[in-house]
Amino acid sequence: MPEIFYEIQDFLMNTNVEQKIVGDNSSDIYNTAMKELHRLESMMSFYKEASEVSLLNRQSGKEVVKLSSEMMLVLQQSEYFSILSENAFNIMLSPLIQLWRSAGKRNELPSDNDIENALYLCNSDNLVICEETAYLKKEGCMIDLGGIGKGFAADVCCNIYKDMGAKSAFINLGGNVKAIGNRADGKQWTVGIQHPDKPRGNCYCAIMCSDLSVVTSGGYERYQEINGVKYHHILDGRTGYPSDTDLKSVTVISKSSTQADALSTAAFVMGLKRGIDLIYASKCVGAIFFTTSNEIYMTKGVNQNLKLLERMKCYEV
Ligand code: AMP
Ligand code: MG
Repeated sequence: MPEIFYEIQDFLMNTNVEQKIVGDNSSDIYNTAMKELHRLESMMSFYKEASEVSLLNRQSGKEVVKLSSEMMLVLQQSEYFSILSENAFNIMLSPLIQLWRSAGKRNELPSDNDIENALYLCNSDNLVICEETAYLKKEGCMIDLGGIGKGFAADVCCNIYKDMGAKSAFINLGGNVKAIGNRADGKQWTVGIQHPDKPRGNCYCAIMCSDLSVVTSGGYERYQEINGVKYHHILDGRTGYPSDTDLKSVTVISKSSTQADALSTAAFVMGLKRGIDLIYASKCVGAIFFTTSNEIYMTKGVNQNLKLLERMKCYEV
């Protein structure tokens, strides 16, 4: 009997979600995964008033907040990746993110004073986490899980696929990809990596993966123009500006999508040299760096999983 194959697209967590599930009960698995995705969105959304993120943000400078164990896990992981990346990854950058968002709407750069005031709130020491509670020390501090939440959700979904007996599955949560097993035809899943300078859908390489996550962060993904200059959405907590990096994108391969999500954001901010050190320090599977001079650098072993689709200068580091 042929396998039941379920393939469906949704819009959730403010992004496109694509799921492919192979297994006899694939529609039940899909329904369970969707419930979980809605639940996680209600937990981690910056904009939903009832989310745990909003609950914590509203109490900044006021009270310690008791949070669910799952939310605590996301905060603990975020803290871990902040420390590992010397704060390049920082969920406390929200005041700065909001400042740049409103600057974009006004088509006017934020003032030095506004940036300085926002940076004062963005210090990661302003978030104190204990076993079951979290506290934002100063009024106006806010967390934003935009750099890690989708990865966490992809991990949760893949655990559901496995627990419910899917033979094979694939999820693409707004560019956070994770695959379980092999495709229905027995071949490995392939993930195309977007060329940063080309229209959406043009990939410069393909990564073969099973039981792995592949996540890309890049300045080309989301940006706004102020006075005709592009400002991308990944910020540097040292300067208060979008990171001035020598990279166009970073792709991280890891068993954990949470890890790949946080590390790709961090490595993009850190740039090629420090980004490579971060990847080796993290013990994830590896990473591919696309530089501003259109060269490719990859960590050792990644070439086994990778097929370049264009002629490019390529180095193993
Ligand atoms: P990603 O697309 O995973 O690289 O994450 C980018 C999103 O994370 C942004 O849209 C912000 O919501 C948030 N963000 C921006 N800069 C940082 C940073 N340095 N560390 C953590 N999150 C960030
Ligand atoms: Mg990320």
